[in-house]
Amino acid sequence: MHEIRFINEIFAVLKQKLTKEMASAQVIVNVRLSPFSHVTAITLEESFKELSKGESFKNVRLKVLPLEILLECKNCKRSTKISKKVFGCPFCNSADVNIQMDKEFFVESIEIAAKKKEAENGD
Ligand SMILES: [Zn+2]
Repeated sequence: MHEIRFINEIFAVLKQKLTKEMASAQVIVNVRLSPFSHVTAITLEESFKELSKGESFKNVRLKVLPLEILLECKNCKRSTKISKKVFGCPFCNSADVNIQMDKEFFVESIEIAAKKKEAENGD
């Protein structure tokens, strides 16, 4: 149940950031999840759906995006950003790489998708 920790983090951000205006709108929370996390995007989305029922976040949808991680190769000295799980350097295939593992998850942004379907033109 590793994902519970992440979901609590999302709830904390939502409680802080959600305004009354957002409460009636469709809200999307963009989060970044490391490809090296034990939690998958699907698990996270499903758990969020389940747990948000108990909170007042029924109008909130979770969008899980890959977290880019810095990979440094000790062999060819190149570095790159990866967003997929790799087991070696993408340039020289060496397994002697340094992968930044300190960040596993974070809430990137909260956006309002649409007020309502019957869109009148006028903000
Ligand atoms: Zn390399």
